[in-house]
Amino acid sequence: MPSHPLAAPLLAGQRRALARAITLIESTRPEHEVQAQALLAELAPHAGGAVRIGLTGVPGVGKSTFIEALGLWLAERGHRVAVLAVDPSSVRTGGSIMGDKTRMPGLSVHPAAFIRPSPSSGTLGGVARRTREAMTLCEAAGYGVVLVETVGVGQSETQVAGMTDLFVLLTLPNAGDELQGIKRGIMELCDLAVVNKADTDPRAANRAQAQLTAALSLLTPYGAEWRPRALQLSALTGQGIEAFWEAVQAFRDEVDVSARRRQQTAAWFDELLREAVWTSFVRGHSEALAQCRREVLTGRLTPVQGVQALWPAPASASGEVPSGSEASASSS
Ligand code: GDP
Repeated sequence: MPSHPLAAPLLAGQRRALARAITLIESTRPEHEVQAQALLAELAPHAGGAVRIGLTGVPGVGKSTFIEALGLWLAERGHRVAVLAVDPSSVRTGGSIMGDKTRMPGLSVHPAAFIRPSPSSGTLGGVARRTREAMTLCEAAGYGVVLVETVGVGQSETQVAGMTDLFVLLTLPNAGDELQGIKRGIMELCDLAVVNKADTDPRAANRAQAQLTAALSLLTPYGAEWRPRALQLSALTGQGIEAFWEAVQAFRDEVDVSARRRQQTAAWFDELLREAVWTSFVRGHSEALAQCRREVLTGRLTPVQGVQALWPAPASASGEVPSGSEASASSS
């Protein structure tokens, strides 16, 4: 198969080629999708080399300030850093919080950094898929650290935790009050919990760190390969950034990251397959499905009988579904 014209410049680390390749994978035109998948397949052997870090926290906790501080700190030490976002608010509004260069003024113009806003259209699943693919492209372009940011609401944390090596929750020094607000599900996903803005109230930050440590140890199963840690830092002053990076290194030393990635890829493949099978089934059986759903809603079929009437799929897509009495007769 001929090489895609973007492959060589992207592998040479050209940002313009990377940006264009990401635009290609974000396109919903069928011919672009074919090209995008061919390009991704060609680049896949060159990907996988980055430290993939997921980051979440409520708006205002300091995510952009932290990414700016960490990104510049890493860039000074010779790392190339890419920043991507899975942002459900941009899915809703069609805008993007990440597009704003004022959020990361230093990093957004740094030659060693690449910042890409969240795709501004599509479902969360679609955005998550494109972010995953963008990550592959960034790795192929030689970015050794990929940060994937999400706002602390809803399903996007699970998506981001499912595509990164380690997942970081940013919180505030008043975590005592906040702990109730942090959903248990997010705590269960996180490998590092970081109290930001420690400069504003060092005593509260110490307390919050201790509370998070206790909460995390309660949630961690016995014998887990990594015991999630709580840290504190100030993204504004840079205090604690180095300790954060040391914790990332410790994580990579202790955890079998490639096993984690294999599990993630398997789960993602299953998810894509489920979605494809469901979409194709709905397309092929929309009338039968609608009729069956009506019968379930009116109580003529139980939900289980409704599914049994549709699956294995009826031979024809004519929309014929056994009536309630037939379905119950055949199931008895
Ligand atoms: P985001 O919405 O999570 O991206 O939060 P931002 O990074 O935009 O930060 C929100 C506000 O908190 C901004 O005014 C930041 O300057 C401030 N901020 C962020 N980190 C710190 C910190 O460590 N210390 C202090 N004092 N302020 C901070």
